[in-house]
Amino acid sequence: MQNLFDLSLEELKAWFVRQGEPAFRAKQVYDYIYKGCYEVEAMKTLNASARMKLQENFTIALPRIVEKRMSKDGTVKMLLGLEDGNIIETVIMKYHYGYSVCVSCQIGCKMGCSFCASTKGGMVRNLTAGEILGQVLAAGQLVGERISHVVCMGSGEPLDNFEEVMKFLALVNAKEGLNLSHRNITVSTCGLVDKIYELADKKLQITLAISLHAVTDESRKKIMPIANKYSIHEILNSVKYYMNATGRRVTFEYALVRGSNDTEADAHALADLLRSLKTHVNLIPVNTIKEMLYLPSSDESITRFQKILLDHGVEATVRREMGSDIDAACGQLRRSYLEKI
Ligand code: SF4
Repeated sequence: MQNLFDLSLEELKAWFVRQGEPAFRAKQVYDYIYKGCYEVEAMKTLNASARMKLQENFTIALPRIVEKRMSKDGTVKMLLGLEDGNIIETVIMKYHYGYSVCVSCQIGCKMGCSFCASTKGGMVRNLTAGEILGQVLAAGQLVGERISHVVCMGSGEPLDNFEEVMKFLALVNAKEGLNLSHRNITVSTCGLVDKIYELADKKLQITLAISLHAVTDESRKKIMPIANKYSIHEILNSVKYYMNATGRRVTFEYALVRGSNDTEADAHALADLLRSLKTHVNLIPVNTIKEMLYLPSSDESITRFQKILLDHGVEATVRREMGSDIDAACGQLRRSYLEKI
């Protein structure tokens, strides 16, 4: 059976019409499920035949919380169980402007980035749009407040699950649903150039974030296998196209690893790459992950690196990984959990 959260209002209307029911039933159902009513029997404004047809054809499946951990900084990491028994992870972060949820778009990941726990067991499957949306809904229920921002930066490469992620972006933005502005949504990619062009042509007002993490193709190939397919030059060309097509700024993520990519020469090279773009760099001291030997850069190196970028006119901020005391980096908690069972 299909998950009702996978359907747009228009799809649900069309389904009701095919069932010989009026299209407005769809809006009635939407009102119920987005207000947290998941029992078809409780949908009293529907007639008995519409309720029966719904029950026969759909599940209303929100992921269930299998485990949750709260960090000292207020970050909450949830392990969520899906209907087929798979486990995904979702992180809720509290900022001064509200709650932001970091959602997974795939179960595992096939991109093979060497610093990432999500990819260690390979990719299991893509998530559906409804399963990605379900993470936002589950997070909202847990904190008891509206979620104001979403980042697609959890497990998986969002642009490798392009169709479902595009559908999720439409669902989460729908005014009859969560009505979340695209400007409050960030989609991250390790640099799938062909998909960046495709995304640009959709002209969405989301923020695109590129995980760069290295300043030469050779050094990038050592940590990100996708660099064997697309060069940094090709990524930057696609980013320029994206910025022109959407009018949106693109951010670059750069995880600082001690003694690896955090030298003054690296900072100068990064500034040279990005100076001509109106962009923003997030410098992220890596979390120590037990399968990997990476160590975060020293505070002194981080400050020096940031200063070089700023001196060259490249906006840069340091983003501390939130929830590092609860395995909050991408894929860590899920991996710890799977190792235990
Ligand atoms: S960093 Fe992102 S793209 Fe790379 S392996 Fe992890 S989840 Fe996949």
